[in-house]
Amino acid sequence: MPEGHTLHRIARDLHGAFAGTPVEVSSPQGRFGAGAALLSEHVLLEARAHGKHLFIEFAGERILHVHLGLIGTFTIDAAEYVGERPVIGQVRCRITTGRHVADLRGPMTCAVITPEEEAAVHAKLGPDPLRDEDGGAAWERIHRSRKSVAALLMEQDVLAGVGNVYRCEVLFRHRINPATPGERLKRTSWELVWADLRRLLPLGVATSRIVTVSEEVAEVESALAKGEGVHLTERTSYVYKRTGRECRRCGSIVRAKDVAGRTLYWCGNCQRRS
Ligand SMILES: [Zn+2]
Repeated sequence: MPEGHTLHRIARDLHGAFAGTPVEVSSPQGRFGAGAALLSEHVLLEARAHGKHLFIEFAGERILHVHLGLIGTFTIDAAEYVGERPVIGQVRCRITTGRHVADLRGPMTCAVITPEEEAAVHAKLGPDPLRDEDGGAAWERIHRSRKSVAALLMEQDVLAGVGNVYRCEVLFRHRINPATPGERLKRTSWELVWADLRRLLPLGVATSRIVTVSEEVAEVESALAKGEGVHLTERTSYVYKRTGRECRRCGSIVRAKDVAGRTLYWCGNCQRRS
């Protein structure tokens, strides 16, 4: 499932491609025909994300609300490369100008909503490390809960945008035992986690990849500071999808089990902190 950095990257790319111009909106697949007709020929004002939700605002107080769910994708290309591109696959919604083409496929949600309805979606979401400086509202929920910190980090009304990869990796980076109940998590531990998510997620937006291993974090931060491109080849992680392999830090075997519907990966030796 796409995590928050993917949605913020899509919002940034849509905004860069279309903001300030009238766009054509269509539903080649047909399922979003009525909604597309409400938006087409209107000026696209802004694209923004909150957690895994995407809001594309059009003139006339019409907002396209998208949630990609498990399998959705939103691709944005320069029209010069695709020309009058044939529709490939089930395109629920296509946004075009003479210069760019964006295709949405397989979303869980694709609907035209009002500003009030958008506000109601925001109200149900916790703070997003890519939007909010302060994660205090998440802490208020976490430190009152008996659920494990591994489960709480996945709840979008506690913390918006973090999915399974960031959850596993950030707990490893701070050596936190994922089974620690929220009510027993130390505030200092939470503050380190929040600050780390504020550091890591922008690297995900910049590179379209989840970067969590310290050497790669340093490499990407250094390249971005110099304004250089980053070319990361293979996907690396500390624990995510490394079941049965040796922990990069201590050599113990990385473990896995289902927590909150997704496979949690962790190192029982390194992660003992509450
Ligand atoms: Zn370890």
